[in-house]
Amino acid sequence: MLLLLATALAGPPPVQEAWVKLPTQGQRERAERLGAHFAEGIDGDYVLMHATTANWPGIQAEFDTLTLPVGLTTKSFAGYRSPEQIESELAAMADSSPLVDLVQFGESVDGRPILGLEMGPTNAPRWRITGAHHGDEAISSELAMEVAKALLDNKGAWEGLIDSLHITLVPAVNPDGLAQGSRYNANGVDLNRNYGFQWGDGTFRGPAPFSEPESRSVRTLSLYSSHHAGLSIHAGAFNLGWPWNYTTTLSPDESRLKGLAQRYEALCPDPDFYITNGAAWYVTSGDSNDWSLGRRGTMEFTLEAWVEKAPPPEQLEELLALHLSAIADMLTTPVPLRVEVRDADSGQPLQAQLSVGTRASDFYTGPDGMAWRILETGVYELQVQAPGYTTQTVELRLPADLSTEIFVPMESNSILDFRPEPALLACCDFQNLSIPGLNTEEVLTLSRPGAETVDLQPGPQGWTVDPALLIPGPWTIQHPQGVLPNALLVGAQGGLVQLEEAKLSGDTLVVRAQGLGPGSRIFALSGLTRGLVELEILSENESLLVAQAPAIPQEGGTLDLLLLSKGEALTIVDLLGTTELDPGTQADTIDTGTPAQAWGPVQGYGGCSHSPGPLPLWSAGWLALALGLRRRP
Ligand SMILES: [Zn+2]
Repeated sequence: MLLLLATALAGPPPVQEAWVKLPTQGQRERAERLGAHFAEGIDGDYVLMHATTANWPGIQAEFDTLTLPVGLTTKSFAGYRSPEQIESELAAMADSSPLVDLVQFGESVDGRPILGLEMGPTNAPRWRITGAHHGDEAISSELAMEVAKALLDNKGAWEGLIDSLHITLVPAVNPDGLAQGSRYNANGVDLNRNYGFQWGDGTFRGPAPFSEPESRSVRTLSLYSSHHAGLSIHAGAFNLGWPWNYTTTLSPDESRLKGLAQRYEALCPDPDFYITNGAAWYVTSGDSNDWSLGRRGTMEFTLEAWVEKAPPPEQLEELLALHLSAIADMLTTPVPLRVEVRDADSGQPLQAQLSVGTRASDFYTGPDGMAWRILETGVYELQVQAPGYTTQTVELRLPADLSTEIFVPMESNSILDFRPEPALLACCDFQNLSIPGLNTEEVLTLSRPGAETVDLQPGPQGWTVDPALLIPGPWTIQHPQGVLPNALLVGAQGGLVQLEEAKLSGDTLVVRAQGLGPGSRIFALSGLTRGLVELEILSENESLLVAQAPAIPQEGGTLDLLLLSKGEALTIVDLLGTTELDPGTQADTIDTGTPAQAWGPVQGYGGCSHSPGPLPLWSAGWLALALGLRRRP
């Protein structure tokens, strides 16, 4: 029997929802080309599809459709948590335990905070759990909240988990959609088609990969951690799926992913629940599972928690109970491998790419140099790569029932003998970029774990790059002459946080800013290695951040900082050179409100004119690029 789901939709574009008879993969592909969009329901030959009202007639003309009786009215989520209730409950949970921090990972299109919890010790295998990518799947955020409560209650199957795991939990990635009962965000984009791995064009996928602040918030929180596994909770069906979703070709992790799913299935006490390779169920692209595995090596699953996206609230307790034991069990899956990668000389942590050949997807250490991985018992060749370092191959023996910790010191082999110094260039679209000491006739490559590398072709006056292509945060410059780790800092683009001042005061670092979110993090970059050394936060509020300073490596006389707040990466260049931020001396700013028009030509390294803008440095709507390099004296 078909389940007729009353889905309310709001925001652009106007959407029709219907069950469409699409028994074959070929017909599904044809319908998608006509603008039909999979909305997580399959019942026999019928698939639940969305389409804009403009595309709808063409689909109806070609296929049998069962149009739903309920149209574009807002669905009542009475009995479900609103985004505001989720916020207050998360804050209360954070207040109740020293093992739990409230973090704002970003801000939605309509200005709602994207909030979550960081739970458990940081030096532990890391999971990421997200709910409500689709706002009409209200049961998904409820289940995420119940997981958080169970972790805190610390009883039964959940006992001890919060002491032995680190869990990043975001109950509502799409708070605007949850508030409006819409699958989409306030721009009408399907966030779970907006991720930047195998992203495909389409009506609901957004104008570009990661065009939406909500999907960017998940990207940012993932880039500054190393989640070995994840669970993305959805609804509209009753199954657990694993990547790939974009292709029916199996990933190198198929056996492990399937193994975890089988554990889950064994503990979900409902005979209708099933597990499936994602693409075997339905081929989609640009989702969080594929990006997580393809870009970060994170083994993320999609849980379709129930066939109804927002069942009557009186059924919730019983439905959520179907999953809680299985989720607890999944979280206890042994993680036999822990890898820590550091620079052999400086001891600074390194973000490295880890590979065991074709036996698993590549995975990555986070800014703390650590990564975890589920692998079967056996002998592996672990290859560790980081730009500027000699690649190491380590024989890895994973015995049964034992975990293995590997420390990999890396010897630098091509790190250029430059040091960061006060920002000398911070301009425009990086046309005519030149760096003294580097031959401008060679290709220059920008790289960063979790992102596509960007090749800059040489031109008559230097290299050119459009900073809109670069994720905010640190980028490594690779050149045939050598490597400059984390040399290029791309500033935040959203303008949610405005830095005002940063200075060392005794053994503390004091940062003043407007609009800081809860759970801000701050990293120091210094020396040749320029690893991201995280500073301990001593206190924080909306306008002040105090961090422990002794951890700041001060040798070399230059020090850059990276502040993460509300999912934005803000850069503070050369803290020691200028103890107060001064828009006139550190970097220029670029108004990104109208990018293509606003970015003028670049003057070039050292020749960039420094003109203080009307707004303070790093303020709302501005993008700052800072590249500082100086020969070691
Ligand atoms: Zn969904």
